[in-house]
Amino acid sequence: MRPKIELHLHLEGGAPPAFIRGIAREKGVDLSSIFRHDGGYAYKDFGHFLKVYEAATSVLTRPEDYGRLTRAVLEESAANGVVYSEAFLSPDFCGGGDVGAWREYLSAIAETARKAEADLGITLRGIVTCIRHFGPEKAKTIARCAAETKGDFLNGFGIAGDEMVGKPRDFRWAFDCAREAGLRLTAHAGEWGGADSVRDAIRDLAVERIGHGVQAIDDPALVDDIAEAGITLECCPGSNVFLGVYPDWASHPIEKLREKGVKVTVSTDDPPFFHTTMRTEYDRLSATFGWDETVFEEIEANALAAAFCDEETRARIAKTLKKGT
Ligand SMILES: [Zn+2]
Repeated sequence: MRPKIELHLHLEGGAPPAFIRGIAREKGVDLSSIFRHDGGYAYKDFGHFLKVYEAATSVLTRPEDYGRLTRAVLEESAANGVVYSEAFLSPDFCGGGDVGAWREYLSAIAETARKAEADLGITLRGIVTCIRHFGPEKAKTIARCAAETKGDFLNGFGIAGDEMVGKPRDFRWAFDCAREAGLRLTAHAGEWGGADSVRDAIRDLAVERIGHGVQAIDDPALVDDIAEAGITLECCPGSNVFLGVYPDWASHPIEKLREKGVKVTVSTDDPPFFHTTMRTEYDRLSATFGWDETVFEEIEANALAAAFCDEETRARIAKTLKKGT
């Protein structure tokens, strides 16, 4: 199978339904209403999806739960050919922003990742994300957590959550704090917020990657700027189609952005919730846009170049990619 790199994956959003069902059973929590008969997550619309997501992740309450979650997510990613992955981690959900508690969660995640690298052949790195709708003050606390724990495993800082709340500039302090600590930066923008939200994130937060960013397509000058600046877009087409940002794969702008010289990459966002995998994304891109070996090689080169890991890891992953194709 083709080796793949994934840059945009929320750790909790990668939780396989069977794993969540198992933890819920152990803890005596009844979550039967959020699963379909075939075992997948069940919901009617976006509002309901958020409730199901919240209910599923509510059973993850201790560092050891996150250790087991990491293993379950990495097994699924490795089964789809992913050899290098970056996961968004939220100190808000792992210790409520307390640095001491966060350290325990982080060490459970990083320790599991080290073991998985040895026996599954997948490398994981972490990106701390603050949650936009929790506000700029909370984001400062989360940035401090990230700055204090920057290291071999934790390389990046970003922002997720409701894009329609507040402005990127409100979070400048948090991003400056993370940058000064040596963390690399990304921000969710242009999924729901329009082209302006992408422009604002680039200008006000000085990020080198944008999570989604696809709505930049509505502003040709911005697309040129992104291409010229070499900013990488973490595109998640299956997620966008599932949530209705675009009505179908054919209308997704990933190919148009690529044609205009933007560095695009492919990720799954919250794969089991959107009934997707990295393999499915690749298959759909190939079927919809005729992407062949050459294009996928270009996509993987973009992802490798934009990965937040150290150079030694990058060189090692480059070798793995070469070996596998
Ligand atoms: Zn995301």
